[in-house]
Amino acid sequence: VRGLLVALALLVFSPLAEAWNATGHRLVATIAWLKLEPKAREEVALLLRAHPDYERWRGRAGKGDVDARAFVAASTWADEIRKDPRFFDAGREQATPLLAGFPDMERHRDWHFVNWPLSAGARSAPLGGTLDQQIPMLAKLLVRREEQESTRAYALVWLIHLVGDAHQPLHASLRVESGHDDEALIVVNRFASGRQRSTLHAFWDDLPGPSGLRGAPLDAAARALIAAHAPPPAGATSDEWLDESWRLARDEAYPPGTDNPVTIDAAFYEKSVRIAERRVAAAGYRLAALLNELLAR
Ligand SMILES: [Zn+2]
Repeated sequence: VRGLLVALALLVFSPLAEAWNATGHRLVATIAWLKLEPKAREEVALLLRAHPDYERWRGRAGKGDVDARAFVAASTWADEIRKDPRFFDAGREQATPLLAGFPDMERHRDWHFVNWPLSAGARSAPLGGTLDQQIPMLAKLLVRREEQESTRAYALVWLIHLVGDAHQPLHASLRVESGHDDEALIVVNRFASGRQRSTLHAFWDDLPGPSGLRGAPLDAAARALIAAHAPPPAGATSDEWLDESWRLARDEAYPPGTDNPVTIDAAFYEKSVRIAERRVAAAGYRLAALLNELLAR
């Protein structure tokens, strides 16, 4: 699969360092769409049409199944609003006017992660971020039939994104003791098809593949991930997904040694790609299972 993704490299990289890159989120959504039951697909398609930004996703859909394409395009909405002047950063900027169909206009940057400190022992209280709380909150909002459809659509679009983020190891952790956390540690990666020097966080964000992947090549990459990875065992809670991410960050995500910048070797790169692909596949399967459970009844 890695060979396929590298071969498809389009050398278009997102400057965002706060989530899986766009390809990561689109792969999660594509896998989930393929695994949705017909009833859930129908519900999802109806809800997306009630979202105030639906026309943008439809406009980008191009050829193929409009509902599938809109679902995939919606997966990066939570990152795109970081640069959207309709929205604001609470506590740092003046509130922007509430627009029709949105429950609020906040960017909610702290929804994308939960910073449980990395240490040898067990997880302790987070140093920031509320990702752990948002997934259950949004799942409840999604099924509240008395809510406006646009509010339920808002919850759906956030869920599509955050289930992906929950599977990125560095979104559930913060290294504190060494002084070089994942935003301060610089990685030199000679195996990358795109940028070869980045923060460790951006290194992980980019592992799912080149950021411009869309359409047929995206579908092929998603199908390759499904073929290579069985669904994870059913029934795990979102807290357990995040706990897996925290453990991976603790045990696998940092290159050995104390150098900064650190030059990584082929073995570390290969292992990281395998972990990222497994996590993207798990996120896709779990997003589908969650939406099937919530919407296919
Ligand atoms: Zn994110």
